[in-house]
Amino acid sequence: MMYLLSDEGRQALQAAIGTSTLYAFDFDGTLAPISPDRDAVTISPVVRELLHQLAARAPCAVVSGRSLADLALRVDGAVSHLIGNHGIEGPLSSHTDFLAAERVCALWKSELIAGLAQSGIAQGAEVEDKRYSLTIHLRRTKDPDRASVDVLRLLRRLVPEPHIVMGTYSLNVLPIGQGGKGAAALALMRQLGRNRLFYIGDEETDETVFAIPNGVVMGIRIGQSPDSHAGFYLRHQGEIEEVLRLLVHCVGHLADLPNPDGFERRNGQSLLRGSVDLQEKGN
Ligand SMILES: [Mg+2]
Repeated sequence: MMYLLSDEGRQALQAAIGTSTLYAFDFDGTLAPISPDRDAVTISPVVRELLHQLAARAPCAVVSGRSLADLALRVDGAVSHLIGNHGIEGPLSSHTDFLAAERVCALWKSELIAGLAQSGIAQGAEVEDKRYSLTIHLRRTKDPDRASVDVLRLLRRLVPEPHIVMGTYSLNVLPIGQGGKGAAALALMRQLGRNRLFYIGDEETDETVFAIPNGVVMGIRIGQSPDSHAGFYLRHQGEIEEVLRLLVHCVGHLADLPNPDGFERRNGQSLLRGSVDLQEKGN
């Protein structure tokens, strides 16, 4: 993995920027710092403003494990495209998929709550119902590693068998055959007529995006990970600001070309509301 903010990494980033690129970001741990209180997670005003500026210049998406409704509140219009529930709430899903996912999650939820009530080790585990998927949060258990073994045992008993994706202090439970951030991001890319994807994420659930072939995706993982498919890494979440600044700057140069992406400006935003504004805000 190459450090994105090294000289070579910056050159690679500039080379990846083009008029056919979709810029996509995970939310928790990527655009926003991780917090023990998941309801309190927000993006900083500076990151929001930079995202807003980037989205005025090129198509941008946020791809998250949160439900779409939850994500929309937190992103608050900074970008036009949102994918929720690990891709289940994305361009590939149909009404039938939603109904099937909702039904099976309701079944799993009641079984899990009953199972967790009997587990001493997993005490403190919380089941988050995201309507089309579930997340079991372990951050408040005494020993999250031991609790995850116990929860996995419960999950393996569920019928139908779920697709389990490990998160940070959490386990994501998805209907098999649905979801996957990678497939959803790829579908959005095609829907928007893009042929390249720039993506930043921070954990296992983002690996399906990083695994998209190299010529198509430029993947950046927050935190170095030897098993990651991402070619690049950032040292910590706070570096997202610097990356967004670089993207706004570089994509801004493309904007000097006439109608570079056939991309329509939103809300009458000026293409050239630049980083000067941010510095004036005391950033
Ligand atoms: Mg994340």
